[in-house]
Amino acid sequence: MSNIARFPLYDLHCHTRASDGLLSPQAVVQRAVDMRVGVLAITDHDCVTGVSAAQQAAIDQNLPVNVIAGVEFSTVWENHEIHIVGLNIDIHHPVMTGFLAAQHDCRQTRAEHIAERLEKAQIPGALAGATRLAEGGVITRGHFARFLIEQGRADNFAQVFKSYLARGKTGYVPPQWCTIEQAVDAIHHSGGCAVLAHPGRYGLSAKWLKRLVAHFREIGGDAMEVAQCQQAPNERTQLAQYARENDLAASQGSDFHQPCPWIELGRKLWLPAGVEPVWERFPELAPVFECAER
Ligand code: AMP
Ligand code: MN
Ligand code: MN
Ligand code: MN
Repeated sequence: MSNIARFPLYDLHCHTRASDGLLSPQAVVQRAVDMRVGVLAITDHDCVTGVSAAQQAAIDQNLPVNVIAGVEFSTVWENHEIHIVGLNIDIHHPVMTGFLAAQHDCRQTRAEHIAERLEKAQIPGALAGATRLAEGGVITRGHFARFLIEQGRADNFAQVFKSYLARGKTGYVPPQWCTIEQAVDAIHHSGGCAVLAHPGRYGLSAKWLKRLVAHFREIGGDAMEVAQCQQAPNERTQLAQYARENDLAASQGSDFHQPCPWIELGRKLWLPAGVEPVWERFPELAPVFECAER
């Protein structure tokens, strides 16, 4: 048998070169195995082009990991950019392919606007630069960040976002994404479950975060990410409480983009007691465990 997970460690959020990750889908899968991840969801920004290669790598090399088809959609809610992860989606479903095409157009248009703004600030060639760095994948702010670092405009990601790409800065374009509801509907139509991504990372006050979680539940969202490898003290407990209060299942994911000292596939991913793991509510996410030979 191929593609059977032996390790019950779930990492349900990560990126490949198909969007702004640095590793190929094959390398991400291999790394997941090295990190003893048994169930890995590939969740690139607004695209699914890394999914098949990742799944194929696991099958071809008989790796002990289940690779789940996923995506991370950019949406806008109350003028905040909110990310919605879809897990176990049918990447060929017409509703999904249509929706992905629209998101892709939206990203392309935004990339053009970002480049125009940078050009006005005496930084030419940003669209060509970001497109080159995206290597045929979707263009994200991460690619503009790398371009600006290449140009010597900043030394690192944190700095380049702070100076050029964060809200209100020279290269920032206000969000024109779809609504959360549209993303959730597309995920549901294609058979997936919809997960509110990294709720602690939107800079929302407790009051607004509660509103967001309640809204997500109201429009039919299924789960929210509760555990990540980098979280503020008490964040996990707080998110677990919101999940319970809103009857949302709990997910966990590293949001791995590239090898670095502080974020790693599978690292520090565990759920507080009292929440319902998303793989228990949606058993199709759970791996088939190999039985030990008698
Ligand atoms: P986009 O979806 O094109 O807006 O790009 C968002 C991506 O940029 C995120 O998924 C992160 O990978 C990266 N990013 C956003 N904000 C920051 C930041 N402050 N520092 C470093 N990377 C960031
Ligand atoms: Mn990213
Ligand atoms: Mn995200
Ligand atoms: Mn992500």
